[in-house]
Amino acid sequence: MNYNAKNAAIAILAIGLVSVSLFTASILLPKSFTDPLSSQEVEDLVFNREEEKLARDVYLTLYATWNHNVFNNIAPSEQIHMDSILGLLNQYGIEDPVPEDTVGVYNNSILMDLYTYLVAQGQLSLVDALEVGGYIEEMDILDLLRFIANSDHPDVITVYERLMMGSRNHLRAFVGALSDEGVTYVPVLMDEADYQAIITTPIEGGP
Ligand code: MN
Ligand code: MN
Repeated sequence: MNYNAKNAAIAILAIGLVSVSLFTASILLPKSFTDPLSSQEVEDLVFNREEEKLARDVYLTLYATWNHNVFNNIAPSEQIHMDSILGLLNQYGIEDPVPEDTVGVYNNSILMDLYTYLVAQGQLSLVDALEVGGYIEEMDILDLLRFIANSDHPDVITVYERLMMGSRNHLRAFVGALSDEGVTYVPVLMDEADYQAIITTPIEGGP
């Protein structure tokens, strides 16, 4: 059956069976930016916008303390991640949780507490600061995996996958910087096998 014939058949069915044809259409058509996000997808995007900000803010703050290039190199990548999520928030008409972009200020109280804790931890020593970086990247990877599983919008998933690739690179960078300090990083949140699969593979392209 050619495309027009198929459309005609669907149209004829729709005359008598509107609800059925709508149901069929929702199965046949891939999700796109025209389809509304679920409340879970909205919640995840809003959270991740500030989660990427947390990474950027902690790295900017720890760079100011330790002057170690790894923080200076990664912070701009987190800014790109923040901007990518803002693009999705705008596209879907979701309110930005970061109306004023001030380092260390969050709408989400969990992220606010986490910022305070991680910065305090990162002030203890350079090694502690680099381990804070590893912890943030582990957290981001695990959260992004969850957000991808929660979404059926290809445009949203594509952004999350790009952010996750960035996080794998950042994890490799912090682990490498710790190795330069004579310290072997031990994963805090990730399974050892998942962690090893990342750090034993090379840097990937992209921010
Ligand atoms: Mn990131
Ligand atoms: Mn990162």
